[in-house]
Amino acid sequence: MSLIQSINPWNGEILKEFLPTGPEEIEERTALAQKVFQSWKNFPLKDKSTLLKSAARVLRERKEEFAQIISLEMGKVIKESRAEVEKCAWACDFYAEKSADFLTPELISLPDGKKAKVIFQPLGVILAVMPWNFPFWQVFRFAAPTLMAGNVGILKHASNVPQCALAIQSVFEEAGFPPGVFQSFLMDSKATLSLLEDSRIKAVSLTGSEKAGAAVASTAGKHIKKSLLELGGSDPFVVLKDADIELAAETAAKARMINFGQSCIAAKRFIVEESVYEEFLEVFIQKIKGLKQGNPLDESSDFACMARPDLAQELYVQVKKSVDLGAKLILGGSAPIKESAAFSPTILTDIPKDSPAFSEELFGPVATIFKVKSAEEAIQIANSTEFGLGASLWTKDLERGELLASKIESGAVFLNAMVASHPWLPFGGVKKSGYGRELSRQGILEFVNQKTVYLG
Ligand code: NDP
Repeated sequence: MSLIQSINPWNGEILKEFLPTGPEEIEERTALAQKVFQSWKNFPLKDKSTLLKSAARVLRERKEEFAQIISLEMGKVIKESRAEVEKCAWACDFYAEKSADFLTPELISLPDGKKAKVIFQPLGVILAVMPWNFPFWQVFRFAAPTLMAGNVGILKHASNVPQCALAIQSVFEEAGFPPGVFQSFLMDSKATLSLLEDSRIKAVSLTGSEKAGAAVASTAGKHIKKSLLELGGSDPFVVLKDADIELAAETAAKARMINFGQSCIAAKRFIVEESVYEEFLEVFIQKIKGLKQGNPLDESSDFACMARPDLAQELYVQVKKSVDLGAKLILGGSAPIKESAAFSPTILTDIPKDSPAFSEELFGPVATIFKVKSAEEAIQIANSTEFGLGASLWTKDLERGELLASKIESGAVFLNAMVASHPWLPFGGVKKSGYGRELSRQGILEFVNQKTVYLG
């Protein structure tokens, strides 16, 4: 069995090595999950809330330790890692406080005077296949609602963040959750797919690439299990001529560079009306040039490196192919050094339609800029990829903004703000960005049986 390695992408140092969870242990711990579900589902909701509140407390108390692990394992700068841990605590508090409302049975009065109720019951053991980019947040936004609904969770985390996977399990243990309610298994894709086939696993949530999503969803489908997919995005950031251009450009730089561009909801394509194009570009370039690269643990670093050297290489191939096909390099574009995860922030304009920069997701610090003649053309370009996760649109005319928002093919549109996930707001995509919703009330209802009880 090959070891799972935790490697610091900033310097290539092997931090720790772990034995994968073996078949016998997977069996034992899946049985434990199944057993504990029988009692956890009947655990009073207010006691579940108390436990989730203590998970929030543990996250806050151990924030520094967790932030260090995140930064060391996947290269996020420490200030962003701390913010990520705090956001997890916020989501725990949110579901601890709101779940009773969200799960209150709905009473339906029928036309013949009879009544019915819709009650919300847990499904059982839910598998979560999670990525490395927000290694705490992606897991907590799954776990907080899923456990509050009375399910139990098994996490298969990305192979490059095993320390995060184990630290997250420790949060639930320290908070006092019954053993087995939340467990991390260190396993590869093959073991994950066979676990998904196990009849004790009732559903799966995956955040990651299209390829991983298709593999997991097809296995789930074969066994008639529900899947929730949160996949990639190529989010448009549309700037109309009546927008606050300075603020739009500043926000655009932040929206592209957060997590060094490795976010599904990062703004990736900047679509700007021609009369304000130059003004926008000038501020945008200046903001990106002003960011400081450095060690992820350094307080003053704005960015460090990609999460793995292979991700830097893949991104470069997309840039190179696009430039070879005619895209114009405004900034960056140099080839990453072999075996290094470093990457220089890159800006492309004049993007040819047949290039990867036009149609593929650029999962890193590469911005593509489009000049358009009208809002209509902007919407047409915004909708011209296979993805449909988020979108940001800038205009001072909110009424027109809402109308245009309704024409964008995406799971969310933020007017005059960057797209962000927020416990109060449903989060998810359309088209190849996936299906299902996380967060808010919609999120907690994904993994429940919405059972109709007719009161005859
Ligand atoms: P993957 O999609 O390969 O990984 C995400 C998760 O899925 C990991 O836990 C991974 O495990 C698991 N996984 C991968 N393939 C399978 C499979 N066949 N069966 C079961 N589980 C599987 O992401 P990468 O790390 O390779 O990143 C590649 C690209 O994915 C990025 O460039 C980006 O486009 C996209 N991505 C999107 C994210 C998002 O937030 N939507 C997050 C991360 C990546 P393991 O690590 O063991 O392979």
